[in-house]
Amino acid sequence: ELKDNTIIIVLGASGDLAKKKTFPALYGLHRNNYLPRDVHIVGYARTKMDHEEYLKRVKSYIKTPTKEMEEQLEEFCNKCSYISGQYDQDDSFQNLEKHLQKLENGRKETNRVFYMALPPSVFIPVSQHLKKNCYPRNGIARIIIEKPFGKDLPSSRELQQALGPDWKEDEIFRIDHYLGKEMVKNLLILRFGNEFFGATWNRNHVDNVQITFKEPFGTEGRGGYFDEFGIIRDVMQNHLLQVLTLLAMERPISFSAEDIRDEKVRVLRGMASLEPKNVIIGQYEKSLDGSKPGYKDDDTVPKDSRCPTFASMVAYIKNERWDGVPFILKAGKALNEQKTEIRIQYKDVTSGIFKDIPRNELVIRIQPNESVYIKMNSKLPGLSMQTVVTELDLTYRRRFSDLKIPEAYESLILDALKGDHSNFVRDDELDASWRIFTPLLHYLDENKEIIPMGYPYGKSSTHTTSRSRGPAVLDDFTSSYGYKFSDAAGYQWPMVGDQ
Ligand code: NAP
Ligand code: NAP
Repeated sequence: ELKDNTIIIVLGASGDLAKKKTFPALYGLHRNNYLPRDVHIVGYARTKMDHEEYLKRVKSYIKTPTKEMEEQLEEFCNKCSYISGQYDQDDSFQNLEKHLQKLENGRKETNRVFYMALPPSVFIPVSQHLKKNCYPRNGIARIIIEKPFGKDLPSSRELQQALGPDWKEDEIFRIDHYLGKEMVKNLLILRFGNEFFGATWNRNHVDNVQITFKEPFGTEGRGGYFDEFGIIRDVMQNHLLQVLTLLAMERPISFSAEDIRDEKVRVLRGMASLEPKNVIIGQYEKSLDGSKPGYKDDDTVPKDSRCPTFASMVAYIKNERWDGVPFILKAGKALNEQKTEIRIQYKDVTSGIFKDIPRNELVIRIQPNESVYIKMNSKLPGLSMQTVVTELDLTYRRRFSDLKIPEAYESLILDALKGDHSNFVRDDELDASWRIFTPLLHYLDENKEIIPMGYPYGKSSTHTTSRSRGPAVLDDFTSSYGYKFSDAAGYQWPMVGDQ
């Protein structure tokens, strides 16, 4: 439930995340009356700004196409204030504390939610100073933190241990914004609310599962940050693994946060760590027409970088449901299109009456344009018995045309305000996920002779036919784990442009 008398403190309010996600989400919640009554939103960062300047900045982050929205933005700004201070000095945080007390105006109950929109280098000192100087005396305290939660198992544990003495696990909200996405939140309903999915969701019927993340752009001058992490740490260990976990876990006893997270941890613990032989990595080069730069042309990237901008890897879950089924994760930058999707490919139907009939596929598109479709064989209408691949299709835009799909950050911040941990990462879950990835990451970091395979930047302005989907070996790689691409069946989506 939402607590009245809450202050939301955004630390790093001058930064990119605050601008792109935090403030627009807070404004969205305000507009829909989802913020607690009498809420205050306090920004904190080192940058010196007066109140006017700060509000001008906040306003510039938020789009208000209608008059009504403009008025709502004014109301929102009335709740906002800003304090400038350092990240490592008591007197700065005492100054913040004074400001918070002034806003609380002698109230008995004081609830404070701290949102850390800060680079990881200052995470720990800030969380310590907050505990020491700004921890509410009578009310709830929550701290929202953002990835990266370390770079491997030891550094993730170090971060945990530094937070541990000051913040209890039920005060910590670790954001993986994929868990706030509408389609990801739908996974448990699709699986456990539909008998026909539930019944076939296992190794007897599923041949292989692909979870794919594709971006049509490269690092475009922001490679400095990316180079330290690479695509595996940036999207696979967290976002794609979360999707895999929700796809593969057993039915939770209830929808409560701990019941869900218990099952997630259980399935992660059943996974073996990733083996280098089941992994390929790539790095993008100039587009074929030369119009788009390669990764190493980015001035912020070291010229000898071995950082993967593409990876595909296969994970196995050693339990009764999934033993032997490959979960193929693929993620890449600078590819031919933008999409995040799950593709569950079913086994071949029994041979005999059909020759080479394509496999069923269940596709769950997370973004863009949420949809769920099943590629299904059907008789081609007419006098012959020819078959054709068609689809059972749920396209959100058409089916739910009147409903607005909330932004992931709106949904997650609201959950944190309500104290619901279901869609946040628990400490043991984080540990289990790093355990799966760390041996592979260390192997790639340490073996300098392993060079990512080149692939051309996927989407160039003039080449439309040779758009790259990753390194050339990709399709052989996925087919070696059993994925059958049946282009021969010539599946055509009739509503091109309406996806
Ligand atoms: P950012 O813009 O680089 O930093 C936020 C603020 O922190 C800056 O405005 C700056 O404020 C201060 N700061 C920057 N570098 C600093 C340094 N070296 N030492 C001390 N203070 C510094 O970061 P961000 O992109 O907003 O990301 C914040 C957190 O969210 C990070 O953990 C990031 O990984 C995560 N995240 C970001 C995004 C995104 O879209 N940007 C997405 C997912 C997760 P002052 O100079 O005014 O103090
Ligand atoms: P698709 O885009 O044809 O891709 C099918 C799968 O085959 C993907 O895993 C893809 O990998 C892989 N692939 C593509 N080219 C390949 C090749 N040459 N060799 C081996 N593998 C290859 O997807 P689809 O499900 O058949 O759908 C076709 C089109 O219809 C898509 O544009 C889809 O969005 C659209 N559609 C839309 C809806 C809807 O909006 N409701 C419903 C049905 C279909 P990568 O992912 O790595 O490229």
